[in-house]
Amino acid sequence: MNKQAQLYEGKAKKIFLTDDPDILIVSYKDSATAFNGEKKGSIKGKGEINNRMTNYLFRLLEKEGIPTHYIKELSGRETAVKRVEIVPLEVIIRNVAAGSFSKRLGIAEGTVLKEPTIEFSYKNDALGDPLINSSFARALGLASEEEIDTIKNYAFKINQILKRIFLAAGLKLIDFKIEFGRYHDKIILADEISPDTCRLWDVTTNEKLDKDRFRRDLGNVEEAYVEVFSRLGLNG
Ligand code: UDP
Repeated sequence: MNKQAQLYEGKAKKIFLTDDPDILIVSYKDSATAFNGEKKGSIKGKGEINNRMTNYLFRLLEKEGIPTHYIKELSGRETAVKRVEIVPLEVIIRNVAAGSFSKRLGIAEGTVLKEPTIEFSYKNDALGDPLINSSFARALGLASEEEIDTIKNYAFKINQILKRIFLAAGLKLIDFKIEFGRYHDKIILADEISPDTCRLWDVTTNEKLDKDRFRRDLGNVEEAYVEVFSRLGLNG
């Protein structure tokens, strides 16, 4: 398959067409943004880490029965994926209170939730990705009831699998954001799973090893991404 014109450039990735209408190439960038694009920067080596880590996790998820858009890793930064129509929902699963959840509900960061919980945001940069519920998603025509049920089931199952994988690497999965797409009318996992989209804390010290180091100016940002990558056994 041959890489063709660029289709789109987002905050962290570029997307290219190929000669196969069902296949796109994703190219991960080192650029980083936070707070709806207000804070901008770059994290050296992030593109390659996020690409390789996402592909590793998507292959494991596929083995556990979660359909994903992953086809083939082409290089450090580039991957062939199935061309999907993205469902305009950010699906967030939380195991431990942090970030906007802690702020909105007045719950200390680090409070372990009684059960994992799911949250939807409407993917819309101009509105700052507002929090919505599944009734809003249906009413706005963002997804059908059946699609939302599928998304919820996959999201909680993905959480169980990821928690296990990260715990084996000495990391607590606090929360994460995933996105789904429609591929020939079926819902599949798309986008990425990386320290950009997950909160990962060291299992003993609770040191933050994710994008919060960039968001909150905690320092050692590159080092945190490399640490997660190598704990997953992906270095070398
Ligand atoms: N997240 C993300 N993209 C977004 C918003 C959130 O990947 O646009 C991830 C974030 O890294 C965290 C989880 O989703 O792992 C929950 O984020 P939260 O709602 O607490 O938002 P934040 O505090 O990052 O604004």
